[in-house]
Amino acid sequence: MSIIVRLAPSPTGRIHIGNIRAALVNYLFARREGGKFMLRLDDTDLERSTQEFADGIFEDLAWLGIEYDFTAKQSDRFGEYDKAVEKLKAAGLLYPCYETPDELDMKRKRQRLRGLPPVYDRSGLELTEDDIAKFETEGRKAHWRFKLSGKTITWDDVIRGESSVETRSLSDPILIRGDGTYLYTLPSVVDDIDFEISHVIRGEDHVTNSGAQIEIFEALGGPVPKMGHFPFLVGADGKGLSKRLGSLSIKQLREDGYEPMAINSVLAKIGTSDPVEPRYKLADLVAECELAKISRSPAKFDEAELKHMNARLLHEMPFDEVTARLERRGLAVSELLWATVRENLETIGDIADWIKVVEGPVAPVIEDAEFIAKALALLPAGEPTEETWGAWTGGIKEATGAKGKSLFMPLRKALTGLDRGPSMQNLLVLIGETRARARLSGENA
Ligand code: GLU
Repeated sequence: MSIIVRLAPSPTGRIHIGNIRAALVNYLFARREGGKFMLRLDDTDLERSTQEFADGIFEDLAWLGIEYDFTAKQSDRFGEYDKAVEKLKAAGLLYPCYETPDELDMKRKRQRLRGLPPVYDRSGLELTEDDIAKFETEGRKAHWRFKLSGKTITWDDVIRGESSVETRSLSDPILIRGDGTYLYTLPSVVDDIDFEISHVIRGEDHVTNSGAQIEIFEALGGPVPKMGHFPFLVGADGKGLSKRLGSLSIKQLREDGYEPMAINSVLAKIGTSDPVEPRYKLADLVAECELAKISRSPAKFDEAELKHMNARLLHEMPFDEVTARLERRGLAVSELLWATVRENLETIGDIADWIKVVEGPVAPVIEDAEFIAKALALLPAGEPTEETWGAWTGGIKEATGAKGKSLFMPLRKALTGLDRGPSMQNLLVLIGETRARARLSGENA
């Protein structure tokens, strides 16, 4: 069987880490199996879908390096869905209903009061021609429901193992709204058949959907793809992430300075039996991906872990990649500055703070003016080299008796305005003689 999988986001917002988890599961699986990965835009909701969000999806996936083999969008394919509708109607599996949302709400309330599950009572199936004519003359528009079989649908889930849904306990799903627009359920099945999708791999929130969709696949005579559902993504506190996904959009994370491979390394591995470790290329993740490694319990996403991952990747990054990234931010640094500060960065943007420490202006922090005056007098003349710091502090120690922290900290504070940071030996070279003398004299420089 040839493997074809898909990612099917709706262009109704920027994509976030939840989408990327789905993207990676599918993309890595396709690459590992020598299959194809499709990007499908689920844009049946014409009011909320925009070209701008669609462009954002392409942009974010490209930035992450997740390449698809082909794309399609549902708004181009209404004709295909209409044909499927005719098929379902002819088979007696699609029936018109005329309840208003308020009427449906009332029904559900009454059922709940009687301790019954709020399942649609199928009164649409009882309507006579006259009832329908009456509704139509009242100006009501039908919405259309798919008639479920009432059977138990089972499948061998490629992630969860043996799975089942009792269609008896579900409402017949609405496939077409009163205004004639499609909900996602039917178009997705038609597309999966037409694009020969072999595996539908998506989040656990679609398990119930899968029960109904398997019946629609069968009703349309299409092969039923293999189904796989991965567990939810939760925050470090174990709570759902839905409210925070806005700040966890790929666009935001990019702007916050995260590395694409930090995001990929974390999202490919959380919720699996593999450890979360830095990977520099998607190809490395492909080699390690196996659906069987996906855990049955929720995957924990911790932003602190992402930050840590980002820092680890940055610390290893070759200098030419660093300069390319900095150029995009309008920044440039010397190789010495990079080597000096890299261990102190969580994101590439943090480097701006260290450029400022080197280039100034820095407000020196001088607590013991006498000590710093002595230190200034002992600073060797000429541009500092790698040896200068050792020779200079050795001289100060001899002259003042200060040592350890009480020797180094006042110098660090006077030269950088900070009480922590990278090696002073290198920083002194980078700061240079003129600025060093000025700062030791108490000037903002
Ligand atoms: N548009 C659907 C979603 O984003 C796709 C689900 C699926 O993969 O079938 O939830």
